[in-house]
Amino acid sequence: MKKLVVFSLVVLFITGCNSGTKKMEKELKALIDTLEVKAKPVETGAALAYFNAAVTGKDEEYKKSSEFNIQMSKIYQDTVVFARLREIKESGKIKDSLLTRQLNILYNTFLGNQVDEKKMEDIINAQTKLEQKYSTFRATIDGKKLTDNDIESILKNSANSKELEKCWLASKQIGENVGADVIKLVKMRNEMAHSLGFANYHDMSLRLSDQDPDQIEKLFDELDSLTRDTFSALKSDIDSALAAKYKIKPEALMPWHYQNRFFQEASAIYNINLDGYYAKLDVVQLATDFYAGIGLDVTAILANSDLYEKEGKYQHAFCTHIDRSGDVRIVCNIKNNDQWMGTTLHELGHGVYDKNIDMQLPYYLRTPAHTFTTEAIAMIFGRLASNPYWLRDNAGISAEEADRISRDVKNNLRLQQLVFSRWSQVMFRFEKSMYANPDQDLNKLWWDLVEQYQLLKRPEGRNNADWAAKIHIASYPCYYHNYQLGELLASQLQVYINTSILKVGEYDIVSLSRNPEIGTYLLNSVFRPGAKYQWNDMIKRATGEELTAKYYAGEFLK
Ligand SMILES: [Zn+2]
Repeated sequence: MKKLVVFSLVVLFITGCNSGTKKMEKELKALIDTLEVKAKPVETGAALAYFNAAVTGKDEEYKKSSEFNIQMSKIYQDTVVFARLREIKESGKIKDSLLTRQLNILYNTFLGNQVDEKKMEDIINAQTKLEQKYSTFRATIDGKKLTDNDIESILKNSANSKELEKCWLASKQIGENVGADVIKLVKMRNEMAHSLGFANYHDMSLRLSDQDPDQIEKLFDELDSLTRDTFSALKSDIDSALAAKYKIKPEALMPWHYQNRFFQEASAIYNINLDGYYAKLDVVQLATDFYAGIGLDVTAILANSDLYEKEGKYQHAFCTHIDRSGDVRIVCNIKNNDQWMGTTLHELGHGVYDKNIDMQLPYYLRTPAHTFTTEAIAMIFGRLASNPYWLRDNAGISAEEADRISRDVKNNLRLQQLVFSRWSQVMFRFEKSMYANPDQDLNKLWWDLVEQYQLLKRPEGRNNADWAAKIHIASYPCYYHNYQLGELLASQLQVYINTSILKVGEYDIVSLSRNPEIGTYLLNSVFRPGAKYQWNDMIKRATGEELTAKYYAGEFLK
């Protein structure tokens, strides 16, 4: 047995040292260096222009940003470089692990850009036209125009079933308006995917972002069977509460009774309002002190950031790593309330990840392991804003108060997670099936999935493009599942921190405050490695297991 091991080690040693490998590794390294020199100023320019555009709202910054983006795609369209990358990849001669990772990342980036220029242009144009339709379309009720905010507000606050129904139906008008165009775009995307050798665009999107479609589906299947019964029980609770609110029988509840357009957020059935705790505090100071307490300094990030509301400024929030060399910034519109406490902690979660990537790593590995791994870190910290013990340790509420609100807060968090989780099943399965066969009856497919996973009732005879009312299907294709994967990983990391660092129960609610060991763990196991390891490899190194739905289920299903 021992001899065999020695023998195989020798073989590895010989292959690792053969001159073909050395020569090719040297060539690949030179090729990557040349690319970095070309790409870095363009990528930095694009990120900076996007940041400035978001903060100022100025046309010329938006223009600059899109020009940089075009330049960037030209760099990765280069057919000669791609051909060489392919040869190097297919030779199997690259043995160095860092070079292999860079090769895989670059190969996928180039492959996604090897599209006929005319075809690419047609897709971009079709998508831009659709985006404009989505943003300029206004639903109407009895001739009166409504914004999305108007609609959400009526769905949340009205207690009149007739009004709710009218409003919900109005929110689907956009679907009928764009449905046929979306199908056309889906077919164009599929054509592009076929030309690159993929089964369809869904398959291509996942594979190019380093996700195996079968593996992702397995995770969603696992999550489905784990959440089904608890969701069904909770859905009955929601139904009882809503039936009482609307003074109807639970059987009479229709999709318009669930307080948002797609039942993607929890209906308000618990009595909680955390805004009062934050009103007299400084959200930015709270976040700074909290991160310092776990050994992560965010002052340099905040110094470069744009934190408060301004005329013409982008209204949401994001984090950007401008130069892959530590210039990390967030954009927020902070107010001292619960929502912005959560968002600030969330964006700074992305920030500490980016900021602490090992800057000695090669340029193309100086990113998080995957978009959903940075989402997971942001979620762990974002969730804290409504954590009663975090409020106790950071926002000065009393221990009694924390205990008093803890049950409702916990129930609400669980409800949010389960409602979102079932909704993400609909999104994932709809997109997968739509790209596999865009000619099927999509209106029927949508409602079949909504009934199966969200347990909502299909309005009688409904045969409309309600799926096309969800802008993500048209504009952010095949991405939605990453939000759910982020939630799974957030729970997995949380359980690891609880059991291995804090030595408390797996699912105890903890404030994660004033313990630098937490920062040290994340720093060494998640942040510093950047994209050095494939995402599942990183997760296994950090938690002892590959990504699993088990801990998410444990945290929210009890
Ligand atoms: Zn995020």
